[in-house]
Amino acid sequence: MKGMMKAARKVRREPGLDLVDTPIPEIKPNEVLVKVGATAICGSDIHFYTWDEYAQSRLKPPITLGHEFAGEVVEVGSAVTEYKLGDHVTADSHIVCGKCDVCRMGLQHICQNLKIFGNEVDGSFAQYIAVPETSLWPMAKEISWEIGAIMEPLGGAVQAVLIEPVTAQSVVIYGDGPIALFAAGVARASGARKVYLIGMVPERLEIAKRMGADMVFNISDPIDPVKAIIDDTRVGADVVVEMAGAPASIKNAFATVRKGGRVTTFGLTPKPIEFDINYAITLRQVRVRGVAGRHMWDTWRLVDGLLQSGQLDPCPVITHTLPLAEFDKGFKLITTGSRATGKVLLLPFA
Ligand code: ZN
Repeated sequence: MKGMMKAARKVRREPGLDLVDTPIPEIKPNEVLVKVGATAICGSDIHFYTWDEYAQSRLKPPITLGHEFAGEVVEVGSAVTEYKLGDHVTADSHIVCGKCDVCRMGLQHICQNLKIFGNEVDGSFAQYIAVPETSLWPMAKEISWEIGAIMEPLGGAVQAVLIEPVTAQSVVIYGDGPIALFAAGVARASGARKVYLIGMVPERLEIAKRMGADMVFNISDPIDPVKAIIDDTRVGADVVVEMAGAPASIKNAFATVRKGGRVTTFGLTPKPIEFDINYAITLRQVRVRGVAGRHMWDTWRLVDGLLQSGQLDPCPVITHTLPLAEFDKGFKLITTGSRATGKVLLLPFA
């Protein structure tokens, strides 16, 4: 499809993004062109927006950011077999080779030749995006663009919580970012005995309650969440999901889990931390499950199933929806002031 479109792009090696007119992407034979209905700001986009050290080492401008999106197929490459014009789709953020040893072991999402939309290839903060067929996920037409756009981060929450079953287990979530809030809902919908969430933004803790958390703790309150949860569970929590990435939070995660329990590490620390493995893991026989992204495609089936079950409603986490042109406002809502945000969505055609 020839023509120009609006896109929020990183064109300068400095903080911020620019809304620019840029050509509509030309698709390759294995790709479709998606007209973006909604796209969401991810925590990783914040690094690129603020242009921190990580961003400077990772990103090579000019590039269109964004990797959480949903939209309609408006052009189909000649080699595409499973999608047609008018299909509603979302996508995994990962573009995988499908051929390396890691892919062939069933771990495509950490492929040796991994590329990510908005990281190495142009992303979804645009009116149109070119997507390889192998990254697409079909969406039922009843699902809104808004929900479609958050299925990818919701998949991260599903992977982190359900990498082992949580039915009838006590589940603790450290963190109050959008994926942590989703995680509270996933644990609740999956039959957890009790769900606890520890955060620092009062508005987000209220969202956690709406998502199904039974008890929430603000780290700036005098009450010690570790002690409170150990008292409440008597032995410590069966499952702890660490999604804050703060050194204190990681230590508390291991202090909260019971002997023989599971800790999922998901949050990334800004730099390496020191940690006593003897007590935290070895002597107490704690299982550690690292989670990066989400398995393709079993977690997507779980996301679909949880949404269709009616047990999981992610809507409370979507707190702001803005036109793409107001992306700057969206980023500032997340990074400055009270940060009373959940997921912030951008609409390219609003
Ligand atoms: Zn691969």
